[in-house]
Amino acid sequence: MAERPAEIQAANVKLLEELCQPGDFLEGKIRGALVRETFKATATCPSCRKIQEERDYVLKSDLWNVVCSGKCEFHEPEACYGLGVVVHALCNLQNLMSEEWYNQAAEHIFKCLSASEKIPDTQEDKLARLAEVIAVVGLAVGVRAFYRSLPEGPLEEPPLPTAAEGKPRFTSAAEVFNRLGPREGHGWGAGLNLEDVKPGLMVKGAKFIGGEFSKRKFTGLSPMNKWAPALSAGSLFLRWATVVYSPIQNGYESHSFMFKKAPGRALNRVGLEDVAAGYTTAVGAASDAMATWPLPKR
Ligand SMILES: [Zn+2]
Repeated sequence: MAERPAEIQAANVKLLEELCQPGDFLEGKIRGALVRETFKATATCPSCRKIQEERDYVLKSDLWNVVCSGKCEFHEPEACYGLGVVVHALCNLQNLMSEEWYNQAAEHIFKCLSASEKIPDTQEDKLARLAEVIAVVGLAVGVRAFYRSLPEGPLEEPPLPTAAEGKPRFTSAAEVFNRLGPREGHGWGAGLNLEDVKPGLMVKGAKFIGGEFSKRKFTGLSPMNKWAPALSAGSLFLRWATVVYSPIQNGYESHSFMFKKAPGRALNRVGLEDVAAGYTTAVGAASDAMATWPLPKR
């Protein structure tokens, strides 16, 4: 296999393995179920596709009820431990999301997880678990979409790893955050500033200093800011995206790298964004024409 495809394949395999291990707040069993459900449901669930076809009539503030009253097919036990309705919305209905959906999802996840463990009833605890669910599902969608977009060929979708046993690293948000929540003027999703994190916090045996997110990514305006509350899963995103996307670690996020190609890359960051915009437009046009949504692939 050529060097670049091999590098991407290895990054995908490693990411999937880590996604199926215990996380900061979620057990390996739950994370594994989220990944498997995402792989099966992305772009294939008939109920989600129907909602997408009729999206002009969907009130975004009502998306939670629309999905719950639909007939999504879930592939994991107990409708993915009750989290299936969150997974399907995240992997198939992102364009219809709203602040209302976000808050209802946080409450719902809290309720589902509380059935088998004692979780402190705080807004921070709810948002931290929602952030991790979003990160795990979002990354799994990324890997699944990557293989769906490829023609049959040398890169085969890796088999999903067995979920690792074990408890999450933390039991309460109070161990991790001084504060967690949305910031005025920076959208409704929770973000994170460095001073919101407990000093001396250890993640995976190493001191979490937030350096890998860089200072800029801890500012409310940066899109990376929404990955930061997911802590270790957010770090997985940075490492994985640096391989499969334009590098966004180790100084590559600086302005000049918007236009300068990273070593071994065919496109600079702006070129990649162009391709992404073209893909999104093509998917949107196909969808508008009531053709198959998204692009018909494996
Ligand atoms: Zn669905």
